[in-house]
Amino acid sequence: MHSSIPNPAVRTRIVILGGGFAGLYSALHFEKTIARDPMVEVTLVSRENFVLFTPMLHEVAAGDMDLSDIVCPLRPMLKHVRFLQADVEDIDLEARQVSLTYGAHCERRVVTYDHLIIALGSESNFFGLPGVGERALTMKSIGDAFMLRNQALAMLEMATLTDDADARRGMLTFAVAGGGFAGVETVGALNDFVREAIEYYPALSEAELRLVLVHPGKVILPELNENLGRYAQAELESRKVEIRGGTSVTAFSNHGIELSNGGTLATQTLVWTAGVTPPPVLQNLPVKKERGRIVVNETLEVPGFPCVWAVGDCASIPNAGTGKPHPPTAQHALREAVRCAKNVIAAIRGTQPAPFRFTTLGQLATIGHHAGVAEVFGLRVSGFVAWWLWRTIYLAKLPTFRKKLRVALRWTFDFAFPRDLTQHVTLHGIDRVSQLLAYVRQHPVSPPPAAAEPVSATR
Ligand SMILES: Cc1cc2nc3c(=O)[nH]c(=O)nc-3n(C[C@H](O)[C@H](O)[C@H](O)COP(=O)(O)OP(=O)(O)OC[C@H]3O[C@@H](n4cnc5c(N)ncnc54)[C@H](O)[C@@H]3O)c2cc1C
Repeated sequence: MHSSIPNPAVRTRIVILGGGFAGLYSALHFEKTIARDPMVEVTLVSRENFVLFTPMLHEVAAGDMDLSDIVCPLRPMLKHVRFLQADVEDIDLEARQVSLTYGAHCERRVVTYDHLIIALGSESNFFGLPGVGERALTMKSIGDAFMLRNQALAMLEMATLTDDADARRGMLTFAVAGGGFAGVETVGALNDFVREAIEYYPALSEAELRLVLVHPGKVILPELNENLGRYAQAELESRKVEIRGGTSVTAFSNHGIELSNGGTLATQTLVWTAGVTPPPVLQNLPVKKERGRIVVNETLEVPGFPCVWAVGDCASIPNAGTGKPHPPTAQHALREAVRCAKNVIAAIRGTQPAPFRFTTLGQLATIGHHAGVAEVFGLRVSGFVAWWLWRTIYLAKLPTFRKKLRVALRWTFDFAFPRDLTQHVTLHGIDRVSQLLAYVRQHPVSPPPAAAEPVSATR
């Protein structure tokens, strides 16, 4: 029997924090089950009103897909779950309240819960390295992919205009830090993109381009079998990507990046994929943590805090099979989410929750056009077959049939047409947005002044 069952005569409020894979799949399970029960209120809170399909983020950065192809709006999927687009500012586990802020003026609102599911994911960790947090691009959000594509095109445009050979070298060198899935897929996609794009820049030559992957380990893709990592490394090198193994980025300035082996690399572009950390709002929570992630028990509940649950990248979930926590991947997050929702329902109904059990099905990564590596159900494949598997599996996993169809058609047409090289946002556009935001922040909405007495015509 669950330790703290909310009173069944009172409406039960379930609040889910985070609209990523974990938050959404919990919400979808409630949507199909108890969300339409008038005695239950399910609320999903997230910063964005969409879910982002991160495995395809690098395809947007490389212009292989459109922004809208890999995001799905939450509201059409959630008819009975209430959605609030807001920032989680504070979680009070004693008072069972979550403080939210929303809008340009950071207005406040508090929501109270009986069950809380924390699914806030992770953020980039720059480890306080000088200049990295301030200047590096990241690969976590849709805005990041958009910015990277924009930056690559901006560098090509600027390089055609400068006569300074050193400056030009920095503009045409692109560095990616981190040899895990995100870094490898990003450098592979970016390499294809700039090498194809440069054909349309007659003042530049492909020989001037440098793409560099900086990785602290000896072999990239440490999550996979070493032979697959070596294959991926050789394949990237054959595509002219330089791999700097056994070293890491220590600083980023106007002159470029500094490396732990004492070297420097002149570049204007660093993409940082070399570390993540849970969101700051979880830092002060009085719960046990493991590398910043909330430690939960096998039923996904936070020990010492009945009816508080954590799933996805922000949770450290024990795996009895391996003795290590489950890895932070989308394939785990969405299954944890469904198990968590089932356990919340069990707790409400006073039945026994079940432990989360799941074995990784496989891992796949692309390393550029028509090449990939995969380990699926213990089977290791590389090259075109792995790339094809990657596309087929992730296409099938894209939420909603409409998105699947759009992406399938886009990929088919892409065989016949070159990539789109439009730079969607220029510096002029960015200045305008900053100007508008500053104006809105300085001018909070206030009620209009009371209407003046109408002036009498006879006066
Ligand atoms: C580039 C890249 C490629 C990847 N490729 C793969 C892959 O191929 N296969 C795979 O299995 N996994 C992959 N992953 C990992 C996968 O994306 C994560 O494991 C998964 O997204 C975790 O889901 P989550 O719901 O825990 O977190 P997230 O998906 O990060 O969702 C967290 C949500 O919480 C919201 N949020 C955070 N803080 C706040 C706040 N304070 N207030 C309000 N809302 C907030 C965020 O906006 C977000 O919507 C990849 C990740 C990246 C970055």
